[in-house]
Amino acid sequence: MRKIVSVNPATGEILRELECAAENEVLAAVGRAGAAQGAWAEIGVRRRIAVLREFQRRLQERKSEIAEAISREAGKPVAEALTTEVLVVLDAARFLVENAHRLLRDEPLPHGNLATKLKSGRLVRAPHGVVGIISPWNYPFSIPATETVVALVAGNAVVLKPSEFTSLVALELESLLHAAGVPPDVFRVVVGDGATGAALLHSEIDKLVFTGSVATGKRIAAAAGERLLPVVLELGGKDPMLVLDDADVDVASSAAVWGAFVNAGQTCLSVERCYVHRRLYEAFLKACVEKTKKLRVGHGLDRETDVGPMIHERQLRTVESHVEDAVTRGARVMAGGCRLAELGKHFYTPTLLADVTHEMLIMREETFGPVLPVMAFHSDEEAVRLANDSEYGLAASVWTRDRERGERLARRIQAGTVMVNDVVSCYGISEAPHGGVKSSGVGRAHGRFGLDEMVRLKYLDVDRMPGIKKVWWYGYGASFTRQMEGFIDFQFARGLTERLRGALRAVGVVRRKQL
Ligand code: NAD
Repeated sequence: MRKIVSVNPATGEILRELECAAENEVLAAVGRAGAAQGAWAEIGVRRRIAVLREFQRRLQERKSEIAEAISREAGKPVAEALTTEVLVVLDAARFLVENAHRLLRDEPLPHGNLATKLKSGRLVRAPHGVVGIISPWNYPFSIPATETVVALVAGNAVVLKPSEFTSLVALELESLLHAAGVPPDVFRVVVGDGATGAALLHSEIDKLVFTGSVATGKRIAAAAGERLLPVVLELGGKDPMLVLDDADVDVASSAAVWGAFVNAGQTCLSVERCYVHRRLYEAFLKACVEKTKKLRVGHGLDRETDVGPMIHERQLRTVESHVEDAVTRGARVMAGGCRLAELGKHFYTPTLLADVTHEMLIMREETFGPVLPVMAFHSDEEAVRLANDSEYGLAASVWTRDRERGERLARRIQAGTVMVNDVVSCYGISEAPHGGVKSSGVGRAHGRFGLDEMVRLKYLDVDRMPGIKKVWWYGYGASFTRQMEGFIDFQFARGLTERLRGALRAVGVVRRKQL
């Protein structure tokens, strides 16, 4: 039996040892979910919304306790656990409570083509069945919870395989949802490592939502392709921040420092590359150095902490290797640049690098740690080119006092989201679709587009004249051909006379002999 160990990354304390769900246990959980899903879909969206409301009530009541559990297992400050996890989930539930009924109901689909005018069309949204969710450790509550509630409200059952580093938070989510009234077989957490995730991928699930690294995402996409399993892939990012020559240096530098160091830089939407107009470059760096040096690094449970530890040694080594590579190639370390061993094994100082280039790993690969690399540019054109010179395309930001200029540039940046004068916060906007382009992923989470991912769209077509044969059925011949030419002219010719002539030619079409 394989085991996983849940550890407090700030102290190294072992929180709990858990057994990985074996392959047959994963298959059984999926089987039970499949058997229970029909009844869950059957109760209707209003009753599922009532369960969601109860979940929301319980989460609001237990907010501090849940935030502390997140901080203990993932290391982040409790304040961040409240704002970027608990609040995000409460608001995602709010969005669904307010909108799911309207967004899931049947939608009439009127036809424009005169040939099919007599039929009535409708769009029907049906749940997929069992949705598998595989999630990462960096937002151990908000990612699996927002994905789960949207799947559940649409009538799916869910089997969740959380990250092996943050299973306890996922078990808190499970107990909250069960207590709110989600039947145990309709939502189940299977804890385990990558092999447990692979077992879920190869089980009888009907859809998979995966959030994690590009490398694992590509492996998952290949396996899903084999059986045409529909997938949503929310993968890594290397988000650029563009500070234009008219930006407010004080505001933009505060945003850069928060955007790069929130959750110790372990955020898919982190500011991973910062480009500043040459005219503001030195002032911007100076402001960032001052602000970075004021950050208090420490244990997440200490309410005075700004930046917590990193999750594990492997993540720290990636950060160290990127910083080392940058320094070797000529980057200047303006702040930090080393571990903070006196605090514990997983602490790294918030680090500011200047004069970086696109030859350095720090500007090409996802660093996923507390590092803010800054580079100068000379023109908007160059800034856009640098922003797009990346295999990733999750999010980006443009900083300017001129909103129109910001929007113009935003449209040219290859990313799932571009913010003008803000960073990271788009994940907390429940209405906004979240997802990437290029290697950052496929599909969308959140809002109505996230809900669309959780249903099979069915087109329901009902003929209102069942006693009449369709004109396009057999019974071809020279006169039918002429009639059809007339019908096409009647609908699509530009001139009125031509259209009327077409109508006259088409008249006979309904009276002809058919098989
Ligand atoms: P990871 O890819 O190592 O693991 C993610 C999940 O996949 C874990 O639960 C893991 O156990 C599971 N897994 C690993 N191998 C598997 C396999 N072969 N089959 C099935 N499941 C498998 O990623 P991570 O280190 O946990 O998370 C960090 C990454 O996630 C970063 O790249 C980050 O950018 C990305 N991320 C993206 C988003 C987004 O919304 N786009 C959000 C958060 C994190």
